[in-house]
Amino acid sequence: MHSSTARADQPESLPQQPWLRRLPLRSPTLPPAEHTNLYVIGQRDLLLVDPGTPDERENQRALAVLEELADEGHRVRGILLSHHHFDHTSGLTQLRRRLDVPVYAHATTAKHLHHLGQPVDRLLDEGDVLPFAPEGLQVLHTPGHAAGHLCLLDRAGNSLIVGDMVASIGTILIETTDGGDMRLYIESLRRLQDLAQQAALRLWPAHGASVAAGAMLLAAYIHHRAMREEKVMAALSHGTASLLELVPRAYDDKPDVDPFLAARALLAHLHKLRDEGYAEEVAPNLWSPRKAY
Ligand SMILES: [Zn+2]
Repeated sequence: MHSSTARADQPESLPQQPWLRRLPLRSPTLPPAEHTNLYVIGQRDLLLVDPGTPDERENQRALAVLEELADEGHRVRGILLSHHHFDHTSGLTQLRRRLDVPVYAHATTAKHLHHLGQPVDRLLDEGDVLPFAPEGLQVLHTPGHAAGHLCLLDRAGNSLIVGDMVASIGTILIETTDGGDMRLYIESLRRLQDLAQQAALRLWPAHGASVAAGAMLLAAYIHHRAMREEKVMAALSHGTASLLELVPRAYDDKPDVDPFLAARALLAHLHKLRDEGYAEEVAPNLWSPRKAY
């Protein structure tokens, strides 16, 4: 749907922006995506973003690339996690052991990782600037997909490293059981869309190749979620129904959808509609409309 000259599974770097390198590593992520991009950012000192694979051979491949960069005088100085999900953090142990560098993340991400015995060394939040690009990397807090989700704005490269806010392959799932919040997610998408529009930003997602028309991709995501929300409200208008009864109505445009995956996505929409007063859970797992949409 979103064309790009680079292949999702091939490394990518632009001649006008040599400090930003995308290295896709095979990872346990949501199909049809099969890789998580490890970003290697910096002119001399390097920051790694999202070590997302537990596969030792894939991490060896990453370390070999870093060794080549070391021969050219580069040094890895830190590892940043866009959020806590397994397909963004499961390579942390291996890379940290080999590189011995501090780990950066939002406080909420740090809390999740603390439970897994993975300490975070430096907490980041909105407004922080990291010295890994000609004009630095500006930290944006973009909750919704995960409460501690961070994006990085590279002003010199007119680029936004967007983690799991959008993807150019596959889809972004909002999991209410894991801190996902559709209302916040759409708010964060809108904020990024404004930014992308003002500065004609290119997006670098965690899954898939970079997307030059960043504002357009963000607009498409916002539009798609609004369309789904309307379908959920239409599905509710038939009367009280369970989550799995609502799936075929709310996804009648996607008859091949995995009903359990769709149910998880649908629940995020229902929670948003409930918080806005349009729907209510009248009994466990039974949903009704509450006021006119
Ligand atoms: Zn994620």
